[in-house]
Amino acid sequence: MGDRKVILSVKKYLIIPGNHDLRAWKGKNYVSSLLKSIFKRFILCRKLKLVKLYTQPSLGLTRLSNRCFVLNAEVISRIISEAKAMNNEVVRWRREIHSYPELGFQEVRTSKMVEEELKSLGYTTCKVAETGIVASVGSGEPVIGLRADMDALPIQEENDVPYKSKVPGRMHACGHDAHTAMLLGAAHIIKKLHDEGLIKGTTKLIFQPAEEIGTGAKAVVDSGAVDDVKAFFGIHVWPFLPAGIIGIKDGPFLASCDDFKVVVKGKGGHPSSPHEAIDPISVVIDIANAYMKVAGREIDPLQPVVISVTSIRAGNTYNIIPEEAIIEGTVRTLDREVRNYVIGRLKNIGKFYAEGMGCAFKFHLLQSMPPTVNDPGLGSIVREALQPLRVVEIPKPVMGSEDFSFYGNVGATYFVALGTGNEKKGTTYPNHHPRFNIDEDVLWVGVAAHTLFATYAAEKLE
Ligand SMILES: [Zn+2]
Ligand SMILES: [Zn+2]
Repeated sequence: MGDRKVILSVKKYLIIPGNHDLRAWKGKNYVSSLLKSIFKRFILCRKLKLVKLYTQPSLGLTRLSNRCFVLNAEVISRIISEAKAMNNEVVRWRREIHSYPELGFQEVRTSKMVEEELKSLGYTTCKVAETGIVASVGSGEPVIGLRADMDALPIQEENDVPYKSKVPGRMHACGHDAHTAMLLGAAHIIKKLHDEGLIKGTTKLIFQPAEEIGTGAKAVVDSGAVDDVKAFFGIHVWPFLPAGIIGIKDGPFLASCDDFKVVVKGKGGHPSSPHEAIDPISVVIDIANAYMKVAGREIDPLQPVVISVTSIRAGNTYNIIPEEAIIEGTVRTLDREVRNYVIGRLKNIGKFYAEGMGCAFKFHLLQSMPPTVNDPGLGSIVREALQPLRVVEIPKPVMGSEDFSFYGNVGATYFVALGTGNEKKGTTYPNHHPRFNIDEDVLWVGVAAHTLFATYAAEKLE
């Protein structure tokens, strides 16, 4: 593409092939000065195919057409440079939280630290869901929610690092320490941008408890503190992606999770006289077999469903028919309707078998959360917002789950993965592994992404 062609194509976008560095081009001074004379501001992005040009430097965002808003180049580069400058501070917070991991609804120390930091920045904060904090800045609509989770896991850390967990049997093995620290970093920049009128409406920062036990987000939603939020954004650190790359996917991203427990009560007795007892063991074996058939025989093969029976327990010796038998397991799906159908079938099938054999039957949902579905409308905002960062499309959903999905009961949601994997630094162990760790050098990317979400979404959803 020659210089002339480039200039002709900049009315809306300048698309640069090859290594995408305009400054490396022959005739760069000519291109550069000509661009400057036509447009008051422009930005050069080394690693992006898309370079956008901006016409009004004074406002945070500029309308180029009915469908297209772009952030002013100055604001973009400021968000990126301020996020980078925050990295050391974010690492410091992350290590502090990492050293003192707290389980769900026990995040007292972490919550206090978060609240103090936010108050010192001038945020209005409120306590929700026992140990959660919702902080807001700005006023009016739209209200944009940014979420971080704060809880740790009952795992003994095996990393040998100076900031290793100081609490035996507790570890931040899912990266929620990093989530909290990144959102605190974003809080700094977002407050300044609001004060300067560069972010519209209200931004709510949600520091939620108890994600790992699946009830924290629901408790925040039930508190009413996020009722007015129109769009929620969340970031999860992801060791499966190279450090610094953000993975996005519209539509179903993470599965639902419904852990269940079935209790079948019969009548205990002597094994030599089974006719005088009601044996619950033979019943739970039938139930478990029938459960396995639901996914393969009753669901559209193009709909992913996992039904796993993971535990069958009954009795404790060889010469007693026990009174009771228990089945535990989990269901994962990517679709709310399929999920409801499967749960209904597990209840009905279990009841049918148990009662048919004269046993009492109880079905309990232990942990239950919907699938995490990324709103395609927010997807276009996310793609624009993240242009200054490195982004990849994640091709397939992941059958893990997240209680972020509960925010979907209130507003539109979008959840992204931040790559933290780095072989050289040993940060490719999966989440929930005793040696899970992250490449801390890329925490600023999460800070920038949160800030860009808040800025762009407020503009687009006005
Ligand atoms: Zn986790
Ligand atoms: Zn997690």
